[in-house]
Amino acid sequence: MKDKVIIVGAGLVGSLLACYLGKRGLAIEVYEKRPDPRKGLRTQGRSINLALSNRGLRSLEEVGLGEKVREILIPMHGRMIHNEEGILDFQPYGRLGQYINSVSRANLNTMLLEKAEELGAKFIFEHSCTGINWQENVVTFDHQGKESRIGGALIVGTDGAFSSVRSELMKTDRFNYSQYYIEHGYKELTIPPNAEGGFMMEKNALHIWPRGNFMLIALPNPDASFTCTLFFPFEGPQSFAQLSSDEVVRKFFQNTFPDAWELIPDLVDQYNTNPTASLVTVRCYPWVKDRVVIMGDASHAIVPFYGQGMNSGFEDARVFNDLIDAHGTGWESILSKFQTIRKPDADAIAELAMKNFVEMRDQVADSRFILRKKIESELNQKFPEQWIPQYSMVTFHDEIRYSEALRLGKIQDAIMNEFLDQFSEKTWEEKDLEQIIAQYEIKKVSDH
Ligand code: FAD
Repeated sequence: MKDKVIIVGAGLVGSLLACYLGKRGLAIEVYEKRPDPRKGLRTQGRSINLALSNRGLRSLEEVGLGEKVREILIPMHGRMIHNEEGILDFQPYGRLGQYINSVSRANLNTMLLEKAEELGAKFIFEHSCTGINWQENVVTFDHQGKESRIGGALIVGTDGAFSSVRSELMKTDRFNYSQYYIEHGYKELTIPPNAEGGFMMEKNALHIWPRGNFMLIALPNPDASFTCTLFFPFEGPQSFAQLSSDEVVRKFFQNTFPDAWELIPDLVDQYNTNPTASLVTVRCYPWVKDRVVIMGDASHAIVPFYGQGMNSGFEDARVFNDLIDAHGTGWESILSKFQTIRKPDADAIAELAMKNFVEMRDQVADSRFILRKKIESELNQKFPEQWIPQYSMVTFHDEIRYSEALRLGKIQDAIMNEFLDQFSEKTWEEKDLEQIIAQYEIKKVSDH
C-alpha cells in the first residue's frame, strides 16, 4: 500500500506509464475495464492505426521498446494528395530522413502491456473504476457486479477521453471542465491488399483526399491494406445525414473520391456496417488532487488532425518520469510540478490540432499553401537551425515544447503571409530569404 501505484486504464498511455514506473521497481497495478486484448477481443470505437512521431518514439525508446516497435512501423514520408480527378501530388513532411510512422493500435498496446508485465507491473482486466475515496486514497472497481476497494500511494487516471477518474475530480471543488464536439464525425473504411497481397497505393505516405469542408485520409497497415477515415459533418448539405441510401453513398464516393472508390469493392457494405463516431476536445484543470492525477486523453483529449493525441500522452509519461528522476517520489510535489509544466503544452497541441484540420481538408490543395511550403522548405534547407516549420517542430523536434511550437508558428504565419503577398512563384531571391530570417530572429525575442 505504501509504495503501490494504481493506474486506472491499460490503454496506450497507462501501459507506457506502467513501463516507466515498473523500471523503477515500484509496485504497479493497472486496472482495465475491458478484457485482456491478447485474448482476441477487438477494441472498438477507436482508430485501427495511428501516426507515431518523434515524441512518442522517444518514450518508447526510453522504456526499451525502440528496436521492437520499429519492426512494426510503416514510415510515411509525406502527404499524398489525391484531387477530384485522382491526380496525385506528393508533399514531403520535412527534410530527408524525417517521417512519421503508421502503427497498429492493437499491436502497440499489446507490446506495451507485455513490456510492463516483464518489468513487474500487474494487470487486472475487466475491472471498471466506479469511484474514489479521497480521504483514504482508495479506488473502487466493479468486476461483474462485485465491488473491490484498492488503496495506493499514488493513483493515476489514464482512462481516456471519458475518464471515470476525471468524473470523480469533477465532483470536487474548483475543478474546471469543458468538452467541445466538432461538427464532424468519422467513419473508418478499409482498402484491401491487391490480388498478390501488395499495397494498392503508395505504401510510404499518408494519403489525403482534401475536399474543402471534409476529407478522406488513409494510413497503411502491415497486411498491405489501408485504413481510410472519412471526416465528414454529421449534418448539413454534404454530411452523414444526407448519405441515407446505398445509392446515395455509392454516388457520393464515385463522384467525390473516384480513385478510392475503385479500390474498395465492398464500400457500401463497409459504410453501413462501420460505426460513425464523434470527435471531442476536453480541457480541464487541475489535473491533480491530493495523490490522484490524470494523464493522456483523460486530461486533454484532442481532435486527431495533428496525429499527436497518443504522442502527447506518451510525452506526459516521459515528463512525469523525468520529474521523478529530478525530485524522487515525493508524490505531492511531483504532481504539482507535472500539471504546471504540462497544461500549457496540452492546451497548445489542442489548438494546433484544430488548426491542422483546416490545413489538411482544405489548404493542402491551395496554391498559396503549396508555395508557402516550398519557401519554408528552402528556408529550412538553408537555415536549418533558424527556421524550423511549425509542422516539423511539433512532429520531429521533441526538444521543442508544443507551447513554443505554437508561439513560433504564429510568428512564422505573420511573416509568411506578408511575404506571400509580395512574392509569387520563383520571384524571390536569396536576400529575401535572409530578410525573412532576420525578421524572424527579432520577432522571436520581442514576442516573449
Ligand atoms: P485510451 O487509449 O482511450 O485508453 C484508455 C483506457 O482506459 C482504455 O483501455 C479503456 O478501456 C480504459 N478505461 C476507460 N474507462 C475505464 C474505467 N472506468 N475503469 C478502468 N479502465 C477504463 N493519436 C496520435 O498520436 N496519432 C494518431 O494518428 C491518432 N489518430 C487518431 C485517430 C482517431 C480517429 C482518434 C479518435 C484518435 C486518434 N489519436 C491519435 C488519439 C489517440 O487515440 C489517443 O490520444 C490515445 O488513445 C490516448 O491514450 P490513452 O491511454 O490516454 O486513452
